[in-house]
Amino acid sequence: MIMNLNLKEITNRMQKFKSVKGFKDILPEDQFYWDFVRNKFISIVKSYGFERIDLPILENSGLFVKSVGSGTDMVDKEMFSFETLGKKKVSLRPEGTAGTVRSYIEHGMLNRRKPVKLFYLGPMFRYDRPQAGRYRQFHQFGLEIFGESSPVIDAQLIFLCKQLFSEIGIETDIHINSIGCQDCRKEYIGQLKNYLKKNRKNLCPDCQSRYLKNTLRVLDCKEKGCQEIVSEAPQIIDYLCDDCNKHFVKVLEYLGDAETAYQLNPLIVRGLDYYNRTVFEIFPKGNEKRQSALGAGGRYDDLVRNLGGSQEEETPAIGVALGMKRIINILKKKEDSGIITSRTSDIFVAQLGERARKKVFSLFERLRRLGFDVAEDISKTSLKQQLEEANNLKVKFALIIGQKEILDKTILIRDMESGSQEIIPEDKVEKVLIKRLKSIKKV
Ligand SMILES: [Zn+2]
Ligand SMILES: [Zn+2]
Repeated sequence: MIMNLNLKEITNRMQKFKSVKGFKDILPEDQFYWDFVRNKFISIVKSYGFERIDLPILENSGLFVKSVGSGTDMVDKEMFSFETLGKKKVSLRPEGTAGTVRSYIEHGMLNRRKPVKLFYLGPMFRYDRPQAGRYRQFHQFGLEIFGESSPVIDAQLIFLCKQLFSEIGIETDIHINSIGCQDCRKEYIGQLKNYLKKNRKNLCPDCQSRYLKNTLRVLDCKEKGCQEIVSEAPQIIDYLCDDCNKHFVKVLEYLGDAETAYQLNPLIVRGLDYYNRTVFEIFPKGNEKRQSALGAGGRYDDLVRNLGGSQEEETPAIGVALGMKRIINILKKKEDSGIITSRTSDIFVAQLGERARKKVFSLFERLRRLGFDVAEDISKTSLKQQLEEANNLKVKFALIIGQKEILDKTILIRDMESGSQEIIPEDKVEKVLIKRLKSIKKV
């Protein structure tokens, strides 16, 4: 009995936990890339008037069923859903638009000055097959614009996406299409069904069932056989009603005027129910494989109303979501990304002896508060080890305090590049540092 207990205890201690399949840590060395992309994106979209919104990760499951739509893979097969102790059905958010719309309605943003421009960033969850670069928890940066139906907004959003990528050093191709409105889409789907009927036997098993329930989805099937069939299919663009056609032509005109290159792609339909009119996807330049899309978006003019927003007033809207991980993977492969991927500092404070250590303890804090970019390695006793760390951090100057400096109320300042040293009075340290750093930055 005692033996058994011990064995159990030992196995317990030996058990090593690993992250759940499809869920990944973002380690410190990767945070340089994440910070870089996040900071750039946030600063650019803010200058375009977007305001940040943080939404809960958990929502009522019904929100996604009603917006993204039952019949889509995302809702039928990929949601992390469970019942709370209070018997409520909830889901980890599989995407960001539905929650943003829910919040827009819940907080009466209808009454704000239009357009209401929001951005969000954070993790989304889909029970997907975790293939290369695809995780069950993944991160998106998203933009949503409410209350404007003008095609100039579509063009501006697409233009902005292009800028976001170009300013982090990634060139992109934008693929764009219009999927019309409820009215014109109906006729098109009829025509598409007719066409697919003739080729039905050659469609993949998924598309055999999509063909009836979700006909448009056949257009963006990844299977080769299906892609061949749809390449000859009728195109929605030929079926747009007058209003949808005018809208789309205007979007393209604005893009042309802004010298934003785009590619018309009749196969882009987006998999979710809520889209209408303009839809687009963003690819790394020269790589148009579906799996490599960096982001996608489109109009969803009816969603606010469908989710219980104002029934009297229309709330046209458009949004886009960008996949952070793929963006970061591209930057990590680039040799000239210009991203600093290790910690650096201007100044290092080093000490030798217990009294000096106490002094450096407060000197570090004083310099930090004055706004200097300063580093330390205060637990070390060896000066050599401390200076090694100073080298790692590529600091310009090391400030060294030993027994002698304590007695003299001085500090030894060492130029780490030239190796030259100078003894300065303790109370002049701030002035000397400012002067020396200034002269370096001028060169
Ligand atoms: Zn239409
Ligand atoms: Zn297929």
